Amino acid sequence: MNKPHIVILGAGYGGIMTAVKLQKQLRQNEAEITLVHKYDYHFQASCLHENAAGTLHQDRSKIKIKDIINRSKINFIIDDVMSIKRDAKKVRLKNRELHYDLLVIGLGFEPRAEGIPGLEEHAYSITDINSARFVREHIEYNFASYANADKKDDSKLNIVIGGGGILGVEFAGELVHQIPDICREFDIEKTQVRLYMLAEKNSLLPGFDKELEHYAATSLQSRGVEIIHSDQLKAYQDNKVIYETEETERKIPTHTFIWTGGVQANPVFEKAGLALKNKKIEVHSNMLSTIDDSIFVVGESAYVTNENGEEISPTAKKAIEEAAVTAKNIASRLRNKELTSCRPVKQGMFATLGRDDGVATVQNRRVFGWKAVVVKRIHDNHYLYQLGGWQLLLKKGHFHLL
Ligand SMILES: Cc1cc2nc3c(=O)[nH]c(=O)nc-3n(C[C@H](O)[C@H](O)[C@H](O)COP(=O)(O)OP(=O)(O)OC[C@H]3O[C@@H](n4cnc5c(N)ncnc54)[C@H](O)[C@@H]3O)c2cc1C
Repeated sequence: MNKPHIVILGAGYGGIMTAVKLQKQLRQNEAEITLVHKYDYHFQASCLHENAAGTLHQDRSKIKIKDIINRSKINFIIDDVMSIKRDAKKVRLKNRELHYDLLVIGLGFEPRAEGIPGLEEHAYSITDINSARFVREHIEYNFASYANADKKDDSKLNIVIGGGGILGVEFAGELVHQIPDICREFDIEKTQVRLYMLAEKNSLLPGFDKELEHYAATSLQSRGVEIIHSDQLKAYQDNKVIYETEETERKIPTHTFIWTGGVQANPVFEKAGLALKNKKIEVHSNMLSTIDDSIFVVGESAYVTNENGEEISPTAKKAIEEAAVTAKNIASRLRNKELTSCRPVKQGMFATLGRDDGVATVQNRRVFGWKAVVVKRIHDNHYLYQLGGWQLLLKKGHFHLL
């Protein structure tokens, strides 16, 4: 008799954790499992801002998938997911087609250009290892080209981070730490570099307590980040960021505009006819799609609300918790047992502001400064331990606490 085929799309936090849990929970004769991912490595997306700033080499964030999966239990395919044909229970990859009995979607996020002219075409975003590396090399290229030009173009030393939020704030914190090193490398006076952060009006870190938000803003400003709360970002055109504040249009000339403002779910499942909310797939509390009970969804791809009906912010922790419930429910489904619900515990929130500063809430307590960095490092290391035990933790762990 054919074994049911479980196909997992994407090996981000949600997808890889589903695979690792399933290989422990299912016996070899219970199912065939296939994991599909773009690259031969998983990466820790929550460290990408460090890779983009150059404070952490990208190889530290990459984890070879063959090192964490049991290949006698999981087939691993490196390919691009192109579309899902739900009526035929098939997934079309760039190079082949797969039939599934149960599907797990963990395709993560895409940057959202919000319809702002020039953003999609010219702004940079930090979504994976290659885009993070591209940002780092682009900044270095502009500094080098400034240093080597007879006629100096100051806009090459202007960096604008658009959007605020955790990603923008964390990236600004890392960059401000790294800029003196890049300046030294290219013989540039560091006071000539301008680092702007264009945030929404009255908000820098949405979802964080106001006192933590104020602390983060003061910390970044004291190290030279110019925070601008704009009424509206209008365009990024002709190497100028154009925004409006107090009913006046203003411009910042720059060759480096990094957009961290919005993310949306992967376009693959927009075309699959799944019920979407806020561009994510609506799921029941057991992580099954609301309209297709052969499809589980984890991480940023899943639209999940709390008991008040508010959307739960997508974080690595949320993706990991959902993956654990999904793996358990797949095993239950195969054994004709009842499915359980994912009840996310109240999540801690943290944002680093460079190597030795940060803000966090842990069990409703505010944490500031280096202690917040320690909290984040503990979370990152715990994740590595869950994924690959002591071996992976010792190989890739974040022990540079300060
Ligand atoms: C710079 C940065 C800093 C962050 N900091 C934090 C933090 O401090 N704490 C925190 O909790 N969260 C943080 N986050 C958010 C966190 O990383 C995400 O919530 C988390 O990655 C979501 O996990 P996921 O499994 O849904 O998706 P991802 O981790 O994004 O994984 C999806 C994977 O699917 C792959 N994929 C996508 N499309 C395809 C396709 N068509 N075919 C094949 N493969 C595909 C992608 O390459 C990707 O590896 C941060 C995010 C960023 C970008």
